[in-house]
Amino acid sequence: MDNHRERENARAAIYTRISKDLTLEGLGVTRQLTDCRALVAKFGWTIVEEFEDNDISASGGKRRPAYERLKALMEAQAVDVVVVYAADRLHRNSRELEDWIDLAARTGINIHSVTNGTIDLSTPDGKTMARVVTAFAAGEVAKTKTRILRKHLELAESGAWFGQKCYGFTADGQIIEHEATIIREMAARVLHGEGFNDIARDLTARGIPTARGANWRAATIQNILKAPRIAGLRAHHGKISAKGQWEAIVSEETSAMLRAKLAPGRSQGKKRGGPRKHLLTGLLVCHKCGTGMVKSINGKSKKPSYRCPRNAGAAACGGTTIVAAETEAWLAEAAFHFQDARVIDEEDKTGEWLEKIGALDARLEELAADYGTGAISRNEWLAARAAVERHKAQYPVPIVRPRELTTGAMLRAAWSDMPTSAQRAVLDDVFVKVVVLPRRQVTGLKTFDTSRLAPEWRV
Ligand SMILES: [Zn+2]
Repeated sequence: MDNHRERENARAAIYTRISKDLTLEGLGVTRQLTDCRALVAKFGWTIVEEFEDNDISASGGKRRPAYERLKALMEAQAVDVVVVYAADRLHRNSRELEDWIDLAARTGINIHSVTNGTIDLSTPDGKTMARVVTAFAAGEVAKTKTRILRKHLELAESGAWFGQKCYGFTADGQIIEHEATIIREMAARVLHGEGFNDIARDLTARGIPTARGANWRAATIQNILKAPRIAGLRAHHGKISAKGQWEAIVSEETSAMLRAKLAPGRSQGKKRGGPRKHLLTGLLVCHKCGTGMVKSINGKSKKPSYRCPRNAGAAACGGTTIVAAETEAWLAEAAFHFQDARVIDEEDKTGEWLEKIGALDARLEELAADYGTGAISRNEWLAARAAVERHKAQYPVPIVRPRELTTGAMLRAAWSDMPTSAQRAVLDDVFVKVVVLPRRQVTGLKTFDTSRLAPEWRV
């Protein structure tokens, strides 16, 4: 990046875009423009021109005249920096982005965004970052979110069957009698205090198949028994939303007792083995067999990878592998962006906190430099550092704050210092699961193929 061009008096172009998705998020063009202008003022740049595209208008979506004029301005070297509200506002799709990366490389002009900071397209990191934010452009995420949310809510309120085969029921919600009998047996045994593992062993020994034909496990039984559907009840977001339009296998009272017994916090004596070591174990799911993937070292590349386990006797196929580092980084970045879409209204306040924390961090660096050059003694440095750390501690720590107040930027800043279990809690709050799709034969092996990751968002 040509740094000096972006200092003092740099010529800045502001680009805003209005679309239905952005408007739904409360990101009208005025809001975008105000924030962009503030950023330009903060850095002491001069506004050369403000560009605005309107994707809602009749010509909507296809042509973006302002975007084209902006590109022309860049080609002509008539601008030093481009300011956007968020990097994903600039490009609607990956093709436009690649186009832009070429242009940025030729002209040395970078994007500065209100929410993402500078994206330096001349570095590999910057390019990756830009590709991630474009893939998760608010439009795509918001659209999917709204659509899924609306559909779920409608179905939940109507008490419709949720359209999947599960133990005890066919895909269209008809009772499977022999499975229903097992459910009633399991419910009775659990309510009489028998352990889940004992019941699982007994069912397996009797040769009774699970829905997937695997061996019974405690968790399988728990998942079946705590689902309100066995009492003919429709649940939405963990709450009973309607009486279902299907027959019950157990009574509502039995279901209520089972759910009380299985409520979170009432551990069934199942202890987790120490702190979490691997970020994505179980969150990544094999596309072929639906099994949660585990971390291991890839036999060929020797790189840490997640793979579908191939356990004797289990239903896992062992057929899917994906490299760990890139997957972890990409999903974290995706989670930050998803989180930003949730907290967009709170941004003002958190931006202020972030700025203050940033200033304190800068102070810490300064102190370290002073100590390094001998300007202050070790004791002076330690004392000053402690004082700054205390001050910093007054500001909210991202992870303990309610998710509505935690921005993606805060998570990104805190991420590397968070224990894996806390990182996972963040991911679990964003993803229901992430299906890992097969490797595509046609793509080069060098690049990480993000299209292999198919997240199911928690809306
Ligand atoms: Zn598999």
